[in-house]
Amino acid sequence: MVAGAREGDQRSVARLITLVEDASPLLREVMRRLAPHTGHAQVVGITGAPGVGKSTSTNALVGELRAIGKRVAVLAVDPSSPFSGGALLGDRVRMGDHTTDPGVFIRSMASRGHLGGLAWTTPQAIRVLDAAGFDVIVVETVGVGQSEVEIAALADTTLVLLAPGMGDGIQAAKAGILEIGDLYVVNKADRDGADRVRRDLAGMLSLAERAASAWQPQVLTSVASSGEGFAEVVAEMERHHAWLVETDGIVGRRARRARDEIEAIAVAELRARWADVSGRSELAGLAAQVAAGELDPYTAADELLGSD
Ligand code: GDP
Repeated sequence: MVAGAREGDQRSVARLITLVEDASPLLREVMRRLAPHTGHAQVVGITGAPGVGKSTSTNALVGELRAIGKRVAVLAVDPSSPFSGGALLGDRVRMGDHTTDPGVFIRSMASRGHLGGLAWTTPQAIRVLDAAGFDVIVVETVGVGQSEVEIAALADTTLVLLAPGMGDGIQAAKAGILEIGDLYVVNKADRDGADRVRRDLAGMLSLAERAASAWQPQVLTSVASSGEGFAEVVAEMERHHAWLVETDGIVGRRARRARDEIEAIAVAELRARWADVSGRSELAGLAAQVAAGELDPYTAADELLGSD
């Protein structure tokens, strides 16, 4: 499977990602073999409220990236769904333009109730795609929730999408997106109010305190349904990537991603070790003592950690 994935065989890539979703015991060996081939892909996170046009934009973005010869993988991450949509029709409809292109790989991913959740699966799926030689990996959040910030932590470049009539500027400030974007795109520029959203957002971003040497995020506009504006989006993404490489910022971002990845694996490992085996785990015993007031929770936690 690893050899197949390295040669660009999509079925091998898909099977490796299924191993990740299933938390397969084979992963140790797989990841060891993949490691020397990683570190080349540009990871782009796309985030924004439901309905702003993330999947339509991803489709348009893939088109632009293909036009300049990049191999592109799309991971649609849905934190709210326990189901994998790898082979579901949903993907094909939303990404309709690219389903038959061998230079494009599209996959929905869920955590299937694994203890580590998407924090555990997403970075490892990125690792598979990176080793498989994709130039750009687009990670798109499909659900709602706090996943925005998590996706930003995974990505080299975070694209925040907005649209008119979705609560607009103030909403943006509240949702904390002013801190996470490397690039902001006001989509649905064919609708009234897009320019106001752009101006408001640009105004808010200009008030944020940034060092003179820091990256200054731009606000662009797009019409995802026609692809308008995406040549500029790709140019700005490339500019950000070049800046990251020039300033060595890429090293820090990747170390942060690796750190989160290690932590997620380690925590899942510990939880699995402590899991109840028919209610007789050490954790269950300690819990009974703490609940009965015989032991305090700190001492119990120390015992649990010390016993490993
Ligand atoms: P997501 O929930 O953020 O992934 O949003 P979708 O990509 O599913 O888009 C939500 C709706 O907005 C769909 O009906 C799209 O066809 C529509 N849409 C997306 N981009 C545009 C745009 O640029 N202009 C207009 N008018 N509609 C758009």
